[in-house]
Amino acid sequence: MAAPDEFAVIDTAALDRWIRAFAAAVAENEQELTRLDSAIGDADHGANMNRGLKAVVAKLDEAAPAGPGALLKQTGMTLVSTVGGASGPLYGTFFLRMATAIGDADTVDQKLFAAALRAGVEGVVARGKAEAGDKTMYDALAPAVDALDAALGGEDTTGALRAAADAAAQGRDATTPMQARKGRASYLGERSVGHQDPGATSATLLLQAAADTLG
Ligand code: ADP
Ligand code: MG
Repeated sequence: MAAPDEFAVIDTAALDRWIRAFAAAVAENEQELTRLDSAIGDADHGANMNRGLKAVVAKLDEAAPAGPGALLKQTGMTLVSTVGGASGPLYGTFFLRMATAIGDADTVDQKLFAAALRAGVEGVVARGKAEAGDKTMYDALAPAVDALDAALGGEDTTGALRAAADAAAQGRDATTPMQARKGRASYLGERSVGHQDPGATSATLLLQAAADTLG
């Protein structure tokens, strides 16, 4: 384990890499996300997310945002305006709340990143009212922020983010036996059991992209 003081400084360029890596992962997994949503939803989660993140990347290509908060705010606003369905406002709110938590800081250390991530997840809850076990993206996001907080100070940034991504993946896998209580999948009642949640799957890609790019 690296010394706890080996914290990466997360700047605008690093967040740009994170968002682009998330976009690339969603593009690569678009069919899979859609397949999952076809089982318990309306088969559009892959297309929704891919469309939104392509627009996000196009905006980043146009002009580099002035700072970390500005980059995340632009990302959130673009997702809200380009992604229909439940996931657009939820992911949009996630990034907007992260942006607010970071404010106009020039760089983000591990502690601020963890706090911003938690604020983002709280935004998802404020918007969607999901609780643990409802079979949503929250079931991947919540264990990830808990794992990140638990790793704070004891791990280097890459190790802490890897722990968060692993926790997200476990949370994603745990959605399979759950019965959905939020979103379209909840209309299926017991028939939603036995299928992995699409939003928890894309949320895991988000955390894995963070571990790959922000350490
Ligand atoms: P829609 O359900 O409107 O077609 P998407 O298919 O893009 O939207 O996204 C579906 C995902 O959104 C679900 O797999 C779930 O993870 C997430 N979701 C739906 N409703 C909620 C909610 N109230 N809170 C948190 N996440 C939710
Ligand atoms: Mg859908």
